Formats: sequence, C-alpha cells, structure tokens
Amino acid sequence: SMQIGMLRQKLGSSGIIRLKDVARHIDNLKDLQLQEDVWCYDRYPKQSSSAKVMIKSHHNNKEHECVLWSVNHYLGLNRHPKVIKAAQDAIAVYGTGSGTSAMSGGFCELHKKIEEKVAQLFHKEAGIIFPTGYTANVGAISSLCAGRNSLILIDREVHASILDGCKFSGAKYLPFKHNSVDDLRSKINKYKELYDQIFVIIESVYSMSGDIAPLREIADLKQSNNFFLYVDEAHSFGIYGKNGGGLCLEMGITDSVDMLMTTLSKAAASVGGVVAGNKELCSLIQVSANAYIFQCCVTPSSAATVIEALDIIEKEPIHRETLHDNNRYFREKLLKLNFDLGESISPIVPIYIRSQTIMQNMEKELYERGIFSVSVTYPGVKFNEVRFRFIVSAAHTRQHIDYTCEVLSELGKKYGLIE
Ligand code: PMP
Repeated sequence: SMQIGMLRQKLGSSGIIRLKDVARHIDNLKDLQLQEDVWCYDRYPKQSSSAKVMIKSHHNNKEHECVLWSVNHYLGLNRHPKVIKAAQDAIAVYGTGSGTSAMSGGFCELHKKIEEKVAQLFHKEAGIIFPTGYTANVGAISSLCAGRNSLILIDREVHASILDGCKFSGAKYLPFKHNSVDDLRSKINKYKELYDQIFVIIESVYSMSGDIAPLREIADLKQSNNFFLYVDEAHSFGIYGKNGGGLCLEMGITDSVDMLMTTLSKAAASVGGVVAGNKELCSLIQVSANAYIFQCCVTPSSAATVIEALDIIEKEPIHRETLHDNNRYFREKLLKLNFDLGESISPIVPIYIRSQTIMQNMEKELYERGIFSVSVTYPGVKFNEVRFRFIVSAAHTRQHIDYTCEVLSELGKKYGLIE
C-alpha cells in the first residue's frame, strides 16, 4: 500500500490512477520501483497459523516472524482441518478450475447450495453467486441500477467495487456524508421528484474505518421515502447475527433491505461473492449482469470450502466468540493507552496516526519488531486521516495481542502519539 501511495503521490492527488498518466510517467515509474524501499513481500501465512507468518525483507534478505494483522480471515477458518479437507475432497471429485462461467456450464450443485445457504442465512428468498465480492457488487449494481432516470446515493466511504458498479450502470450517482442520515435525507428530498427511482447503497461495516452504518435510522427513513436499499455485508457476514447472517439481521432490519451482498473471502475463508434478495431481482441479475454471464465461476473446491465454513460457523460458535473476545480485549488495551481508534467498533481496528511520515517510520519499526499490519495512506484517505488498519482474527492469541500492544505503546510514545 505504501508503494501505491507513493506512486499516487507522484501521479497526482486525484486518488485515481489514469492510464494516460501512467504512460506519461513511465520513466519515473521505473525510477520509483528502483528507488522505493521495497522492504518486504510474500506476507501471506503459510505455516499452520493464520495469525503468525515469516516475512522476508527484500531490503536485507532477513526473515522476521511477524504477528499478522493484515488479512481478513476473521474466524481463522482458512486453517480449520475440516475446511481444508472439504477443499481437498472437492478437488478429488471435480479437479481444479471451474472451466467456464456459471451460465455456460461452470455451475454445479455446490454453487447452488451456496446460493441457497447464503440466502437462507440472510433471510432472503434467493441468491446469486459471483466469482468474487468485487464482481458481485459490480455485476449486481450495474444491472439493478441501469437506466437513465435512476439516481444512486452512496455513502462516501463505500468500497471501490460499489463505485465501479455505479459507473457501469450508467445511472447518475452521488455520495452523501459518511454515516450521515441527515445528509442522506436531504439529498433524497432534493432529488426524489427528479428521478424515477432512487437507490441507496451502504455497507453495514466500513472496511477502512471499522465503524458501522446507522442501519435502523436508514431503515426508518425508508418508511417515509420510497427508495431501494442495498447493503454490502462483506465485513459482517459470518461475524454478526444469528448463525453469522450479518448485521442487518442482528439489527432486525432485514425486511427493509431490498438486496444484501457479501463476499466469501473473509469470514467464509474462500473466494466468491453472493447477492441475495427476492427471486425476481435475482433473475434480473442472472440474465443481465455481464460479471455473471461472461466470467468464470467460483471453482468447486472454493465452493466446497464455503459450504464447510458456513456449517462450522453454525455448529461451532467458539470461533465467533473468540473473535469478539479478541476484539474487545485488543480495543480496550489500545483505548487505555490512549490511541485514537476513531468510531470503530468492529474487528477492523484503525489506529489513526494522522502523519504520513510518522506512519512510514513506524510501519518499518513495527515490522522489525515482528508486527505486520497495513497502512492506509494518502490519497486513499486524507493526509490527516492516515492510519494503520489492524484486522482482528479468532486465530490471534492473547500473547499476540499483548505483545502487539506492548510494542505499539513503546512506539506510540516514541513518536508522540500517546503520552
Ligand atoms: N465490499 C467490501 C466492503 C470489501 O471490503 C471488499 C473487499 N475488501 C469487497 C466488497 C470485495 O470483495 P472481494 O475482495 O472478496 O472481491
């Protein structure tokens, strides 16, 4: 992320890298790669733990064992023996790959089972599976919102896949202030006479801030205003609600939500994405979303992984309990140290640094001390909002958390973030 941040700084502050700008800076880019202190790579866990990993420094070629805070394996199920066995068994039956798109023959009974299961967990009638969460949003939103006379209102902090779905739809879209029901209400009032239909797209848990949407207030707003509500539950599916059915379920607002979406790459320990709603909406997406029609589907082994993971989420509540315990424990320690965690409450724990220079120095020192997290840099966020993002997992132990807090406390004092 640091490298992309620097590249973006060189290319300009828009936050969007345009191809023509890249072409213009091609020589600089070469320089950038040589000059950039590419200090580490290959940081995905290979050992038996989802929370510890050996990371080799490109800089001095040394290996450091790090506590890992950068992956979304919230429940640590990517290492659950039953999940691994389910994937292996499916490979023995189906082989590797998926061959083609769902429409043209890549779809098998495992995919069907996921669509039904996720819809059931979300308390919706039907579901449609996509190869990733990203393309689920792109495919579903571009289909549902297509039309000249629709307006899409999106929270300012929604994921890039939602933004791309809006762009592909051809409809007009506008952001409203993050989590501001007042701004949303005033935009609805301002525009409702001008458009045939208004779509409101939000996330239940926001991926960079770890805060949650005012779901009940937005559901209430629907009582007096007719709009279509789409909620991305990527960071809450499997974690909140009965059997992991998500935050809308936990808040009791499922009936007010027209379409729910989740990725299968986080709590569900695989890859893929599902959107769920009534049968008519799902049929519409199935026949009109290019991302569904023209893209290969999830491999059978990845599908088998999801089915097993969802079964474990239902039958072994310990993983969810451990995640929430870890989140509470880590968060309390950090707050006691006086770190700035913004409005976050979910297992996404941002630590606001608010200075790019301090963050870059600190990131390196954290790594050298055996802690790996991800820095969220400018222009992904504003300069004064740069932060580390620590993702809590059920796989973290108390020792991992204690050690991380110890080092954070020391470095926080060194860099004047806390007293
Ligand atoms: N929606 C949100 C809110 C996300 O955070 C992400 C992934 N980070 C996605 C969608 C896309 O999911 P995937 O990475 O599984 O394609």
